[in-house]
Amino acid sequence: MNKKKCRILKLAIDVDGVILDIMSPFCHYLNEKFNTNYAIQDIVEWDSFLQWNLPEKEIDTAFNLILNNKILAPLIDEDIPRILELLNQTWSVDIVTAREKENRENLVEILKYHGIVKTIHYRELIMVEKTPPDSKLKHEHDIFIDDNPYLIDAMPDYPEKYLLLFNQPWNQTDIHAKNIIRIFSWKEVIEIIFRYSQERECDSN
Ligand SMILES: [Mg+2]
Repeated sequence: MNKKKCRILKLAIDVDGVILDIMSPFCHYLNEKFNTNYAIQDIVEWDSFLQWNLPEKEIDTAFNLILNNKILAPLIDEDIPRILELLNQTWSVDIVTAREKENRENLVEILKYHGIVKTIHYRELIMVEKTPPDSKLKHEHDIFIDDNPYLIDAMPDYPEKYLLLFNQPWNQTDIHAKNIIRIFSWKEVIEIIFRYSQERECDSN
């Protein structure tokens, strides 16, 4: 039986907590400043660092230094550029982030620094609003790779889409929706998307 043609699979890949590890340098900055010993494992809820009783001004400064590339945020996995290139050769990869629009150029620069460039590794860099938390899901993508725990509750409203929830200490919520898969590494990203693409009820592209 001939399968019908279907459009190219569109992937939306988040930045912070998925491509870039911004929370390790964040903890490091605060630990140096206040002689504390925080690690990303201590961030057990979204924004739970606000309960560390540290001055909010310093928390803002830490984020600003990281978002403006004054402090280097490392890649979560050194293999990410190779994996993105591979994914973008077969499907359409967009990088989709809720960072502020004015941070766009800094983000392009840090991605470039890590060897991630437009056209080769991704097609578009899309900046979305922070609120509502599901604003990313309104974009025309089939699979989202994200660490934001607020997307978990929203996924049942988008049964045709998938969320690969990148495991982080701040997203340890129970998952019940069928269209969410918790993943623990970038290697799994490739395996799952290849499998999903093969199981589609139509030919890719
Ligand atoms: Mg994120």
